[in-house]
Amino acid sequence: MLFITHDLAVVASVCERVLVMYGGRVVEAGPVGEVFRHPQHRYTQGLLAASDLDRYDDPETGRDPAAGRRPLPTIPGSVPPAGSFPDGCVFRTRCRYADPACEELPPWVWTGHPGHGHACVHPVGDPDLVPRERSSPAPDAEAGR
Ligand code: SF4
Repeated sequence: MLFITHDLAVVASVCERVLVMYGGRVVEAGPVGEVFRHPQHRYTQGLLAASDLDRYDDPETGRDPAAGRRPLPTIPGSVPPAGSFPDGCVFRTRCRYADPACEELPPWVWTGHPGHGHACVHPVGDPDLVPRERSSPAPDAEAGR
């Protein structure tokens, strides 16, 4: 069965595999537990950060009303209109890690975990990468595209 949703908690509870899509492309795919615990694509990373899944996974804070609530981070920018997604990585106008390498279509990369892959040239954990400040626009935003 194929289940389409934006609700990651529902994905975590009913699905075995997940395909993360942005701009009509699959940007990451794999077993739900693996993708949610070890996201590689920067969009997946942002989605998970903007969710409250960790509250339920963490025995220290899950379902504890005294744990307090934190503001959830958001992904900067907004989804481009249909037909206006950038060439190369479709997420690069919103990604803090975008650089000129992201102007080419990222190849699909399989991680070491069976069935887990992504299309990001600077995946989570890339030791050579320094994120731009949140206030810095992505390269296409600067060019007005
Ligand atoms: S680092 Fe580059 S390839 Fe990876 S999500 Fe950001 S813009 Fe896309």
